Amino acid sequence: MSKIKIFIPCDDANHVCDKTQYKEASLWEMIKLNIHLIYCRACRKYTNNNTKLTKAIKESNVECLDKKSKESMKLDFEKALKELTD
Ligand SMILES: [Zn+2]
Repeated sequence: MSKIKIFIPCDDANHVCDKTQYKEASLWEMIKLNIHLIYCRACRKYTNNNTKLTKAIKESNVECLDKKSKESMKLDFEKALKELTD
């Protein structure tokens, strides 16, 4: 399996969610968490229970990404979504 592991299980998502609160999560982990939250209602609920997390993500480096990084992130994301719906 050479594919980048973009989809993470709920356990991992919750773990990253916890790490994010203490600013211990890496940017890539937060990206994966955000992707997970888009399609996983259970974890959205988990994170919604924590307003601190939402705030942390908003204030995180994700906002500071340059345009090129955002663009490639978007492409990766769209590709991942396509694979998900196949
Ligand atoms: Zn989940």
